[in-house]
Amino acid sequence: MNNQDLKAFADAWHDGMLVAVIAMAAIAIIIFLLYHLKVSLQKSQKEKHDYVNTFEIKRYKLVFVFLGLAAGFLINMYGRDEIAWPGIAFYVRIFFGISGATMIIYISSLVLDYYYPTIVNRKLRRLRFAPRTSSTGGKMKLLSEDEEDVHLNEGMQAEESIFSIDYDVWVDQKTNEIKIEKYQGHLISLQCNNCGFYTMRVKQEEIIEKNEDGTPKEILKHYQCAYCKNVRATQFNVNRKEIEDYKHIKPKPKSSSKNIELVKIDVRSNTGSKKSFEFGTVDEAKKFLDEFDFGRIG
Ligand SMILES: [Zn+2]
Repeated sequence: MNNQDLKAFADAWHDGMLVAVIAMAAIAIIIFLLYHLKVSLQKSQKEKHDYVNTFEIKRYKLVFVFLGLAAGFLINMYGRDEIAWPGIAFYVRIFFGISGATMIIYISSLVLDYYYPTIVNRKLRRLRFAPRTSSTGGKMKLLSEDEEDVHLNEGMQAEESIFSIDYDVWVDQKTNEIKIEKYQGHLISLQCNNCGFYTMRVKQEEIIEKNEDGTPKEILKHYQCAYCKNVRATQFNVNRKEIEDYKHIKPKPKSSSKNIELVKIDVRSNTGSKKSFEFGTVDEAKKFLDEFDFGRIG
């Protein structure tokens, strides 16, 4: 090829890369916007919760795949006048483009898999525990069921692989209207005691005790952390109340602490020293305050 042909090739290459950068970035933005549009189109907070829980991390990963590709093509626009085919620099640049794209896609997927669930969890808790409104427009309260109780779907009970369900029972105390929201326990990520990430999920559940009529009484949930592979098993009672049963329960207004993530207590002494304490539940904080002695710890 003569110089003129090489120049034409370099121009075509750079124009092609520019189109690719714009296209990839546009696709990334479209996926991001469509995802958020879909979230806003979900009617209830429960539906929003399930949608975010299922799709947010998946969609963000896809966004970063296209951003990574955009960066890869962008790198291949570097040195328009200096780097030309068939020089070695041309291939080195392609190599850097591929490496750059791979690195962005890889690192973003690590962040989204391990660090980001903490942020999603906060969002999910907000959606799950935000006060619901009854059909008459009244404010509903969340009934606090025993934390150790789970439910099973009928039919599911006979199967080998069971996955239990958490019931959130919302009640309008004026009209006694009941709203039950079912959450698939194995799809909810919990915080790992070992690494602190919200990457602990149920791997398997097994029935360990049955009632006389053969229905499950107690189950054992086996959890595993996706990050550090730490495992734990927790026993749960199987609650046999059906949706109908909740309609006959007189709602007991309990101060639900289910939606509390953290209780922080700052204690200041009159000499100006200060201590902060953090608790997972209100009860722990109460117990702490009952036994509190600033002189002893300060
Ligand atoms: Zn872990």
